[in-house]
Amino acid sequence: MNVLFPATVEAALEALCAEPDAHVMAGGTDLLVRCRAEQNRPETLVCLEKVADLAGFEISDGRIRIGAATSMTAVLENAAVRERLPLLHGAAKVFASPLVRNMATLGGNVCTASPAADMLPPLYALGAEVELRSLSGVRTMPVNDFIVGPGQMALAPGELLSAIIIPIPEGRTIQYFEKVGRRKALAISVVSLAALLRVEDGVIAEARLAWGSVGPMVIRCPEAEALLKGRSLTLGALREAGEKVRDTVSPISDVRASAEYRRQVAANLLLRLAQISGAH
Ligand SMILES: Cc1cc2nc3c(=O)[nH]c(=O)nc-3n(C[C@H](O)[C@H](O)[C@H](O)COP(=O)(O)OP(=O)(O)OC[C@H]3O[C@@H](n4cnc5c(N)ncnc54)[C@H](O)[C@@H]3O)c2cc1C
Repeated sequence: MNVLFPATVEAALEALCAEPDAHVMAGGTDLLVRCRAEQNRPETLVCLEKVADLAGFEISDGRIRIGAATSMTAVLENAAVRERLPLLHGAAKVFASPLVRNMATLGGNVCTASPAADMLPPLYALGAEVELRSLSGVRTMPVNDFIVGPGQMALAPGELLSAIIIPIPEGRTIQYFEKVGRRKALAISVVSLAALLRVEDGVIAEARLAWGSVGPMVIRCPEAEALLKGRSLTLGALREAGEKVRDTVSPISDVRASAEYRRQVAANLLLRLAQISGAH
């Protein structure tokens, strides 16, 4: 196997162009497990660990830009993420174990495009964009357009995910992430919910809700969001929104949970918003 360690983004992009069948490797926590399971060794790996430009945080114009190869430990420990994006911080807190978080990257989690990827529901709810780089330039698109199917992304040949750009929510927001798994730690989610509510004068001005593991991709529920908008945050309103969610999600049954259980949990998780905000 040919393993390349480019030191710059340009060198990484040139390597990808020269070797169209090369695989990008960030932390390797998904890629290497998959290669072993499928007994499939790629001819060439382009490793991102030495590309300093692909890691780190920048804050400007009301947005946080996180380099794709930033480790999950760095995301968890970043003060701006903790204070301004508690939704993302909440997901990073329950992500894998410290050892895996040291290797795994935020960009790698996005690029697995798994319906159970923990960082995706928060990124959907926060309205994040992905920045994609190739030798011909840079383009951005909303993360929900980037993920086009389970394990599938709108990544052109020779392109890298270079950063994730997250608008910092304005005003008073309630941000909440919860993952239900079969055990407390190191569990793949059975259902997860990322919720962002902007509340003005006691009224929900905006609701953004995204669920993981209840369909082939992360699912938003515009009907539930519309139902909450303009209302007070009450248990009754959340129950009604939960009914919409039950009808919208399309989970599968697998070894970890039945479809009906997932449907019910997806609806019930909304009720946590009453608990954390003290609503009745
Ligand atoms: C023990 C264990 C526990 C885990 N627990 C969790 C968990 O709790 N929650 C969770 O969501 N996941 C979990 N995972 C899965 C995994 O750790 C994450 O999905 C992780 O974020 C992947 O990042 P990575 O940097 O290791 O990606 P890699 O394995 O390096 O890459 C994953 C995929 O993305 C592509 N890729 C990576 N970076 C880029 C880029 N910048 N541009 C283009 N393509 C790219 C690779 O080619 C590959 O196809 C776990 C894995 C293990 C082994």
